[in-house]
Amino acid sequence: MSDCIFCKLAGGEIPTNMIYQNELVACFADANPQAPVHVLVVPKCHIESADGVNASNSDAVKAVFEAIPLIAEKLGVKDNYRIINNCGEGVGQSVRHLHFHLLSGSPVMKDRLF
Ligand code: 5GP
Ligand code: ZN
Repeated sequence: MSDCIFCKLAGGEIPTNMIYQNELVACFADANPQAPVHVLVVPKCHIESADGVNASNSDAVKAVFEAIPLIAEKLGVKDNYRIINNCGEGVGQSVRHLHFHLLSGSPVMKDRLF
């Protein structure tokens, strides 16, 4: 999508501090971090939200989850992080490009949300 900020960041059109990337996945720091470690893991292809995942684009989602342990290792937070996805504005999705928050490193992270 031409006007999607995460497409531009993941595709390199807008420079960012890329923490990890491969053909299908990009990971960059969240601009407004909510924990000492707060990065976003995104598919490079545009998928609006978890509701937009289907058989034709799920390879990219698989690649996201294969990348997450590598990213956690690189950030030094293996076995000590949370993955969060917001699907829909009603639960706080503000960027309509599928993304997974990887958060770690704050005492507040020990609180359970459910
Ligand atoms: P959501 O609220 O959609 O689950 O998460 C969107 C996240 O994207 C927020 O945590 C916000 O701080 C982050 N964000 C929004 N715009 C940008 C941007 O231009 N660059 C980066 N790196 N993060 C962004
Ligand atoms: Zn996009």
